[in-house]
Amino acid sequence: PIRTRFAPSPTGMFHVGGARSALFNWALAQQQPEGRMVLRIEDTDAARNRPEWTDGIIRAMSWIGIDEADPHFEGPYFQSAYVDKHRETAQELYRSGRAYYCDCTREQVQERRDNPNLGYDGFCRDRGLEPGPGRALRFRVPEGGPTVVRDQVRGDVEFDHASIEDFVIARADGSPLFVLANVLDDVEMRITHVIRGEEHLSNTPKQQLLWEALDLAPPVWAHLPVIVNEQRKKLSKRRDKVALESYQEEGYLAEAMVNYLMLLGWAPGEDREIMPWSEMMPLFRIQDVNSSSAFFDEKKLRAFNGEYIRQLSVEDFVERCQPWLTGQGTPWDAADYDPAVFAAVAPLAQSRVAVLSEIVPNVDFLFLREPAEDEKSWRKAMKPGVGREMVEAALARFADPALEWTADSLKDATEETGAALGLKLGKAQAPVRVAVTGRTVGLPLFESLELLGRERVQTRLEAALE
Ligand code: GLU
Repeated sequence: PIRTRFAPSPTGMFHVGGARSALFNWALAQQQPEGRMVLRIEDTDAARNRPEWTDGIIRAMSWIGIDEADPHFEGPYFQSAYVDKHRETAQELYRSGRAYYCDCTREQVQERRDNPNLGYDGFCRDRGLEPGPGRALRFRVPEGGPTVVRDQVRGDVEFDHASIEDFVIARADGSPLFVLANVLDDVEMRITHVIRGEEHLSNTPKQQLLWEALDLAPPVWAHLPVIVNEQRKKLSKRRDKVALESYQEEGYLAEAMVNYLMLLGWAPGEDREIMPWSEMMPLFRIQDVNSSSAFFDEKKLRAFNGEYIRQLSVEDFVERCQPWLTGQGTPWDAADYDPAVFAAVAPLAQSRVAVLSEIVPNVDFLFLREPAEDEKSWRKAMKPGVGREMVEAALARFADPALEWTADSLKDATEETGAALGLKLGKAQAPVRVAVTGRTVGLPLFESLELLGRERVQTRLEAALE
């Protein structure tokens, strides 16, 4: 059975590139009843690791549906737990002659080479040094070659052995290097497929040589194309919004996120794009991943998210909005929030938000004591002239106790009032909207007025005239 793995280093937030790798691995693991995806935390860089990053990665993975409770999930394992094994194997490679000790300093290596792009020159290859202080262990890259990496995405990639230096596998203090630890853990965890970002491809020939030195057949390799931003630059955490958590906080739905991430380098075919995980997972094939860079199009992701939001049942939509309505940081007092009012307005709002956090500016006029005033639109709408006149006229008209307080009759009343001032409905309702909701755009106005109630509408119209 297939055994894939996701092997993040806990040195930062879980980002969209990692999430894409994890999902591709996860799809393959879920395709087989016995398929597994191992989560291995590569935590050997003690200076850069923090346990909270590990927690964050696990939390974010579970958000996108890669859950520890799923039978296809295995782990988490921690690389640091296997260090003794790494040291031991490094020694075995030394004893079998596949590795040798080297006491060259960095300066010496540099001095000896005329081309700075060349690596280590093999100076200690045949010196037969014993282990000792200041001596690192280097892998003896076999003569001959080339090493051909049969990559599922990029095809066969050839690496001439002359271009692969005798690389260090254990430092002078015996501690193993990443390139070795990574392979040995894959061996230990019986990994059949290594699917990871393209930045690891340059390490792959070395790793394949290590597998061969251990008399093992290398795994299936697949290196995923880089993800780029609008400027065609590789996504970076300094420049771009890459943390999965920030998307979650903004109100992206996990389903939309998963759907979009799966399309970064892959497509289910037949021009289909919006597709739930349950349909996409069985269709995924690593050989179909494209090798050219994948554009992370935030606008498209937003559009996907809006689509997913519209597909929710109203109850589900209401439920998912809760963190933004009742959580910390809402602009209104918790006591002023009314779930029944929100339930009434939710169907109107659902088609208007692309990310859930946008629910707040759409409904805040219902729960704030005074509407949030967008200074600019306020001044524009309320400046002496038609805007003001319209608000005055509406105030008078709405005060009529015979006026039924329903969206329909409020619309008629506004239309008539506007007509008397020579305004079409659109122009007539604009200042009323600003006065009552504080904004120039928003939910259908007359439904909003109905929900808000006669008294509050009047108070706000009066306040706007002050
Ligand atoms: N720990 C490595 C990283 O986070 C992953 C190496 C691999 O997938 O083989 O970049």
